[in-house]
Amino acid sequence: MATTRVDPRDSLQGMPLNKYAYIDFDRCNPLACDAQTGLCKAVRSCSHKLLEQEAPWESPMLVSVKMCVGCGDCVTACPLRAIQIMNG
Ligand code: SF4
Ligand code: SF4
Repeated sequence: MATTRVDPRDSLQGMPLNKYAYIDFDRCNPLACDAQTGLCKAVRSCSHKLLEQEAPWESPMLVSVKMCVGCGDCVTACPLRAIQIMNG
């Protein structure tokens, strides 16, 4: 089942207040993106530095739903369509 991780401090009654990047961890596969390094292309695309990968081969996390501007650069960068923009 698709999941996203939302910081409750950025939300009201569990609902985010702004557009944000939703990561589908069922679709995300860092190894398929870059078999050499396991680095997420979406992380590198976010000029706001809001996507982080704890280690190569791991899926990225959105560090702040509130700060995400919903620009979609990470959506474009992800070759597996594992990210979409959700309306807050
Ligand atoms: S680019 Fe997409 S599929 Fe690849 S690791 Fe990042 S979120 Fe996952
Ligand atoms: S939508 Fe834009 S600001 Fe938000 S995580 Fe993706 S690239 Fe960064």
